[in-house]
Amino acid sequence: MDKYEKVKKIGEGSFGKAILVKSKEDGRPYVIKEIGISGMPSKERQESRKEVAVLAKMSHPNIVQYKESFEEAGSLYIVMDYCEGGDLFKKINSQKGVLFSEEQILDWFVQICLALKHVHDRKILHRDIKSQNIFLTKDGTIQLGDFGIARVLNSTVELARTCIGTPYYLSPEICENKPYNNKSDIWALGCVLYEMCTLKHAFEAGNMKNLVLKIIRGSYPPVSVHYSHELRSLLAQLFKRNPRERPSVSSILDKSFLSCRIERFLTPQLIAQEFRHTFLHKQPKIAKRPAPGFIPLTPAQKITKPATKYGVPLTVRKVSDAARKSAERKPAVKHKPVSSLLTVMMGCSEKKRMELIEKERKQREQMFLLKAEQMKRYEKEKINRINQAREQGWKHVLSSSGGVVK
Ligand code: ADP
Ligand code: MG
Repeated sequence: MDKYEKVKKIGEGSFGKAILVKSKEDGRPYVIKEIGISGMPSKERQESRKEVAVLAKMSHPNIVQYKESFEEAGSLYIVMDYCEGGDLFKKINSQKGVLFSEEQILDWFVQICLALKHVHDRKILHRDIKSQNIFLTKDGTIQLGDFGIARVLNSTVELARTCIGTPYYLSPEICENKPYNNKSDIWALGCVLYEMCTLKHAFEAGNMKNLVLKIIRGSYPPVSVHYSHELRSLLAQLFKRNPRERPSVSSILDKSFLSCRIERFLTPQLIAQEFRHTFLHKQPKIAKRPAPGFIPLTPAQKITKPATKYGVPLTVRKVSDAARKSAERKPAVKHKPVSSLLTVMMGCSEKKRMELIEKERKQREQMFLLKAEQMKRYEKEKINRINQAREQGWKHVLSSSGGVVK
């Protein structure tokens, strides 16, 4: 830390602090993320170091540049570039309700997609895409930040982060405790696009239970028709409840209204480099089983289960499905099944057996008598009711005809 001079603390997330510093070597400002790792088991600490190493290799114009990392006094420090333009969340809030132009939204969105493509192409998930993790540089370039940090965290911290942190970007599958995958990042990307179009969160509610319900239903207020059909239909695709139906980041960038903007943000060399993968993927494939997709390092099961936590049913079953299930269910057994009586009898002596049979017979007789008694009472009541009704009817007829019966 002695290479840096602390300027101020700029934030404190559930995982640690974000400090604005000034380098004593080059005089430039940087942001240092401090992550407490002393409480982590050594295996997880090792994993964190590996993740930081992956992070260190990332270099892209639309990703906040990593500088270095070091460990000191039980904390892991990650040094990265400082983005002077602040984050997208602040930018959205400073609009005071004035909507952004479609041009602006698409320019930003393409840059976010280019960053995410770089990450996904390396089979890495961001896991924390939100407007607060998307930054603007001095010249207005978009940079995706905090990338990889989520993976550096252990599952316990991650669980806390999901519960304490911003829950607006949770995807339906995470609410249903299914694995986090690349398409969960795409859902969050949809949330960011929606925020840029409406200056509001797509899924908002007064409490966590209602929020989870809205996310699972995938219902969000429509975006202004002032925006193009292409843009609105893209949003609908990103918000598909089934992760498989959501497009990959490469196919999003393939859309002509977005692909035409790429050359404004990447040099031709970088375009060739970044899209080489896509080109290779597009070659005709020999039929084989689908790739297993991205397998997150942290076991998915460890991700928090907001739906159950907040008392929301995990699956909304179709009526027909539910009806079928109930029909399949065995009828409820009201009396002791014969087989169980036999089992009891088999273990008894002859005398005991006779006693049991006799007991059973008496019980049945009593039941029969009780039933007969009930039936008799019911029949009597029924006749009484009919008689009363007849009487009432006659009284009514008599009174309406002046009470004279000839
Ligand atoms: P969170 O992402 O949970 O909001 P962080 O600790 O990552 O918390 O960030 C805290 C604050 O620091 C946020 O306001 C964020 O905009 C800002 N910040 C984080 N990283 C950078 C960065 N590289 N450049 C400029 N501001 C940053
Ligand atoms: Mg952050």
